[in-house]
Amino acid sequence: MLDYYIWTIGCQMNKAESREIVDCLDSVGYREVASFGEADLVVLNTCVVRQSAENKILGMLGLMQGYKRDYPEAVLAVTGCFAGSDFADLKKRFPHVDLFFKPGDYRELISWLKERPVSAGAPKNELPCHLCRSVDKTDSSFRRYVSVIQGCNQFCSYCIIPYRRGRERSRPLEEIVCEIVSLVEHGTREVILLGQNIGAYGHDLPERPHLAELLERLSGIENLFRIRFLTNHPKDVDGRLIEAVASLDKVCKHLEMPAQAGDDIILKSMKRGYTVKQYRELVRVIRKRVPGISLSTDVIVGFPGESDEQFGCTLALLEELKFDVVHVAGYSPRHGTVADSKYDDDVPKEIKKKRLNMVEALQAEVAAAINSQLMGKTMKVLVEGKKKEKWYGRTGTDKLVFFPDNDSVDYCGRMMNIEITRTSPWALQGAVESD
Ligand code: SF4
Repeated sequence: MLDYYIWTIGCQMNKAESREIVDCLDSVGYREVASFGEADLVVLNTCVVRQSAENKILGMLGLMQGYKRDYPEAVLAVTGCFAGSDFADLKKRFPHVDLFFKPGDYRELISWLKERPVSAGAPKNELPCHLCRSVDKTDSSFRRYVSVIQGCNQFCSYCIIPYRRGRERSRPLEEIVCEIVSLVEHGTREVILLGQNIGAYGHDLPERPHLAELLERLSGIENLFRIRFLTNHPKDVDGRLIEAVASLDKVCKHLEMPAQAGDDIILKSMKRGYTVKQYRELVRVIRKRVPGISLSTDVIVGFPGESDEQFGCTLALLEELKFDVVHVAGYSPRHGTVADSKYDDDVPKEIKKKRLNMVEALQAEVAAAINSQLMGKTMKVLVEGKKKEKWYGRTGTDKLVFFPDNDSVDYCGRMMNIEITRTSPWALQGAVESD
């Protein structure tokens, strides 16, 4: 039997894809091991969204060079955003890598392995097609990430993703439904549908299904309790999608919708394709149709040319719209993007840091105020696991809730009514509601 090791860094999308690779390799008869030193096949699933991530990959590839020298028959395969473009060039730079394959294209890995002699670790079994695929290994995760669309057509000026992951490619709707039916049969109760720009789901398929249609189909799956989806480019959050979130009980009342900046000139330089006014109006429409929805956003501070005043507009927007969660990052230039070639990275590091701290401080106040309103309320929590003698899980609005282990009952995968007894900006504490 061939042993494999998979190394993953990056976003939830990469984690979901690694999961798929694990399922595929297991289903063709391979076995996962805990370290690359024990493996015949090493798969590196990479991320290049920031330079620091790319540096980690280069370090890992250096380490693998030594490993391949000591164990030349081992197979090294690289996927993820690092392997998104020009394979010939990558092959020249990293001759010790046996195979580069595009993100999500794990079938390429299996076909490549199939070409090998059986003694060299070719797969024993056929890879089941996605439509009838069942997950072989017992999966204890009640929450699964499922990638539904790859790539992005937006080309925001600062972002490397479209160059590395390529153009948008949606998975067929029936294939996704089948996969999730299979996951639910194996115990999954919540799915998080992933795409760099999930709202674009389906536009490249012959039948052009809308994301709302996928949500409707998934809502019909028995024993699937919850459905989430991310990340949403504001331009693709349309009336049909908002209506699906409002009307489908299983679809969580939670949207992740990056604003990125609160100033029109910066948004234009970022090539985001909307104005502050349009973003604000979209939030108003969503909140009107889905009262109580929780909204998360992303913000970049210190984009080239961002003045104190322009940063102040971002801060003002966050204060006005009061998001449940704000993910903030300092601008970091990525070679090959429009922003990198066109603009100087002219906001000093310490100013970026200061702005980042200001956003975090403001958000801590906003989230504390939002969460304090939940005090004493009973919320439905899908329990995911146990940490430091406390159970934890999430509400439909994506609030992390902890509650004590009173009676040694296994709550994993169960939907519990939890009465909130303490709140903070980041999490809630509670107790199982007594009957
Ligand atoms: S929407 Fe913009 S930021 Fe998001 S992946 Fe696409 S190009 Fe990058």
